[in-house]
Amino acid sequence: MPSRRRAPDSPKRLLPEKADAVSVSIRMNDNLNGESAGSLLTEAVELLSAAGINEPRSEASLLLRELLRVSKAWLMAHPEAIVSPDQQRRYVSSVERRAAHEPAAYIIGHREFFGLDLEVGPSVLIPRPETEMLVELAIDACERLLPAKGRDLVAADLGTGSGAVAIALAVRRPAIRIVAVDASQAALEVAMRNAERHRVMRGIEFRIGDLLEGVDERLDLLVANLPYVPSDEVDRLMPEVGRYEPRAALDGGPDGTMLIQRAMEQARGMMEAPATLLFEIGEGQGMALSESARSLYPGADIRVIRDYTGLERVLSIDIDSD
Ligand code: GLN
Repeated sequence: MPSRRRAPDSPKRLLPEKADAVSVSIRMNDNLNGESAGSLLTEAVELLSAAGINEPRSEASLLLRELLRVSKAWLMAHPEAIVSPDQQRRYVSSVERRAAHEPAAYIIGHREFFGLDLEVGPSVLIPRPETEMLVELAIDACERLLPAKGRDLVAADLGTGSGAVAIALAVRRPAIRIVAVDASQAALEVAMRNAERHRVMRGIEFRIGDLLEGVDERLDLLVANLPYVPSDEVDRLMPEVGRYEPRAALDGGPDGTMLIQRAMEQARGMMEAPATLLFEIGEGQGMALSESARSLYPGADIRVIRDYTGLERVLSIDIDSD
């Protein structure tokens, strides 16, 4: 193990100068040949756990693997590998950002969703694993709708953000044309780069707008992961979310359901039966939203579907042609 002692005249404390800085420091080693991966990891784990970060070991390892561009297995097998001073400095800076509760996906700039690597940044919500269920249900809906239509489906994805839902759907279902809408130009730029990266630009049209206002197509399918956190809960979310993710992608008004309600109302009259609407929702919102759905779409098959953790997650509305 290289020595961690430093000459007193070369202070290299690398703590974030922030109010919530923690009292542990991760130190650069003076060894010009760099420090070993294993000892850097140990220091990073200490710093992250002192800062109250969940799963500090896997977070520290993710950030280091990203920088060294190595696999998990490689890193575990080579704790003695020497990290160059430049990589060390970059590692310390990303660990410090994580210690200040910035999400790892923003630090490394990407996140996997539905087996696809997606660019993410502070202008978009980080895609959640729970949202993969929305994509699965949309794929099932396509299977049901395609034979009935005998043509390419037309779908809208509202609040597309990073484009995660639209892109996953387009990758799996090429017989579909998707209009992906977001109110944020910065988000749409991220989404378009993601669509280009996964070669689905031709199947998706990105539009800036307020929900369905700029959409005049007749729709077979509507999918949406809109903001659904009640306004006064946004500030109480874990700092990773409340402090770093875009408020506009989280805040769903007083009870969280405002945008979903509006989208459901706007979509009435735009759906071409048979058709399906799928909304991601929050726990506890199923009852109120299915009541609205029942009055807006009488005769439709309305279901609240729970995710793998048992929480209400998707409101599904199937409209039949008769
Ligand atoms: N699932 C997100 C969260 O609470 C909320 C996403 C949303 O509002 N669409 O972390």
